[in-house]
Amino acid sequence: LKFAQMGLNSATLNVFNLLGYETPTPIQAQGIPCVLAGHDVIGIAKTGSGKTLSFGIPLIRHILDQKPLGKADGPIALILAPTRELVAQIVQELKPFLRASNLKIAGVYGGAPISENINLIKRGGIHILVSSCGRLLDLLSANSGRVMNMRRVTFCCLDEADRMLDMGFEPQVSRILSYCRQDIQTVVTSATFPPKMEVLARKLLRHDPVQII
Ligand code: AMP
Repeated sequence: LKFAQMGLNSATLNVFNLLGYETPTPIQAQGIPCVLAGHDVIGIAKTGSGKTLSFGIPLIRHILDQKPLGKADGPIALILAPTRELVAQIVQELKPFLRASNLKIAGVYGGAPISENINLIKRGGIHILVSSCGRLLDLLSANSGRVMNMRRVTFCCLDEADRMLDMGFEPQVSRILSYCRQDIQTVVTSATFPPKMEVLARKLLRHDPVQII
């Protein structure tokens, strides 16, 4: 299987060509079609497996299938990550693909001044917001909830969810998801699959869930 056989848009295929990636990794070969088909997915995958593009590539199609962002609209997709390093890494890896499709991604995390994040979000036009859990909750409550608008969110990814659980972020994740609609598509990645992860997956993955190993 090659990327060119997966029904991706030509802008995306051009970036794969530029990067010299011809063949999807196993998690991508299984995950991209599943996410494109609209399933909720949990991918058991470690860093280095190609997991970021396994949800990032179908996410482009998901966004292009929605009506364009209006001026007052918030993001269409949320990607939650346990650490600021992972937030930065996800943004870095997806950026060339999003630029090629004229989509905008932004990364936010604690430790950096929140006023800059607030200005960025108020300016609008961000299709994908990558965030640590704490910073997203701070943004959701900023200015009595007038900064972050979650009405357009239809896709949510929890990247490295087992690390989120280990760090005690489950209450924050639940709180964030309580701001989202019930019918969003959800993707979870996790390097391990302990019973605690299985319980979380059962709770989060509601629409024809598929597990990829
Ligand atoms: P990840 O597991 O998402 O952290 O990705 C690990 C690294 O592999 C990143 O630097 C990607 O740019 C690279 N990568 C992702 N997919 C492919 C692929 N299909 N072929 C070659 N390299 C890839």
